[in-house]
Amino acid sequence: MKDPKARMMDVDEALQIVLRETRVLPWERLEPADAAGRILAEEVRADGDQPPFAKAMMDGFALRSLDVRAAPAELEVIEEIPAGRMPSHPLKRGQAARIMTGAPLPEGADAVQMVEKTEPARDGRWVRILEMVGPGTHVAPRGRELKAGETVLLPGECLTPARIGVLSSVGQPTVLVHRRPRVAVAPTGDELVRWDATPKPGQIRNSNGPALAASCRQLGAEVLDLGIIRDEPAALEECLRQGLATDLLLLSGGVSMGTYDLVEAALERGGVEIFFRQVAIRPGKPAVFGRKGECLVFGLPGNPVSSLVIFQVLVTPALRKMQGAAKWEGRRLEAVLEAPVAQHTGRTSYLPGTLRFDGAQARIQPILSSGSADLPAYSSANALLIIPADRDRVEAGEKLRVLLLD
Ligand code: AMP
Ligand code: MG
Repeated sequence: MKDPKARMMDVDEALQIVLRETRVLPWERLEPADAAGRILAEEVRADGDQPPFAKAMMDGFALRSLDVRAAPAELEVIEEIPAGRMPSHPLKRGQAARIMTGAPLPEGADAVQMVEKTEPARDGRWVRILEMVGPGTHVAPRGRELKAGETVLLPGECLTPARIGVLSSVGQPTVLVHRRPRVAVAPTGDELVRWDATPKPGQIRNSNGPALAASCRQLGAEVLDLGIIRDEPAALEECLRQGLATDLLLLSGGVSMGTYDLVEAALERGGVEIFFRQVAIRPGKPAVFGRKGECLVFGLPGNPVSSLVIFQVLVTPALRKMQGAAKWEGRRLEAVLEAPVAQHTGRTSYLPGTLRFDGAQARIQPILSSGSADLPAYSSANALLIIPADRDRVEAGEKLRVLLLD
């Protein structure tokens, strides 16, 4: 080990350090339609009752329920009320108004009978109500969904499509949200070529760059693609010059013990304070984490599965915290293991699995994988099963913790 004081961190400790060093990004104001996927930074209240008036929930006839207790009954139709217009007359006994879904109920009416349960009478100026309706039928009373001043959204909540709808319905012209993190993605390795190139002998396509960029975008970050970085100090230096100007620099490769693993040294030369170099996790032991100023830096392992596992376990919570999310860590649950798994003790394993529900019981099937380079196997996983560091074998039927993949 290059630094004698360096030691292998356990996963939870590493995560605590990452979160300790992660700051929440500043706010900006956006129109609701532009804020999808952002984390809310303020409380949002209803500006009025919803619905703002008692409204019809069906196309049909607004009426007084007492008038149709002994249906069939004939009522005089006094007007037609389309959605968007106020009624012009209150309903008196024996009267009805043709009404459309979403239109305000006239004064005096307390129910709507749907058009299917009516028929025209007396040249269509009257209506025959074929079935009685109780008071309140097919009517949404004023304020049923929301009362004026009621809290509808809380800081830390993610603006899902439904919440964008809620925001728009309460008339907030703009909303305070956390800024998106800017993440620089920099895969390193002399063997790497772009996805659209034909690798020459000894070369492979860069899969980490696109996979990590996609992971960042999925979490709401903006990606600065620094391209493939050669295993040369000068190339790494240039990469740091650009990458350290963002909120988070994600390097992959070059953090193991090989002759061309130059990332850590480059980070130190570049003034990055390093907090850990190795995590007691399988796959993904070599994982460097540091910070320079406001920029967090991760040196992820080069093996494709390792880099994605470290991303899930350590980078995802940092990106969530940056954006002000109320909950940082991935969703975990307990699942029954469907097949035995053996491992070497000393590190916590995160292995690809297929999670499914058998009634209320979560069950996880480990996915056969050749290991940290087996990206195809990993890509079919929907969860990672977590095998504690002190267990050399876990048995079918045991309950294990599982991390859901996004
Ligand atoms: P390293 O951590 O640089 O020693 O790389 C470990 C392994 O991961 C090697 O087999 C590399 O070829 C592979 N690898 C490194 N970077 C990438 C990448 N960006 N895409 C795909 N495989 C990679
Ligand atoms: Mg390398």
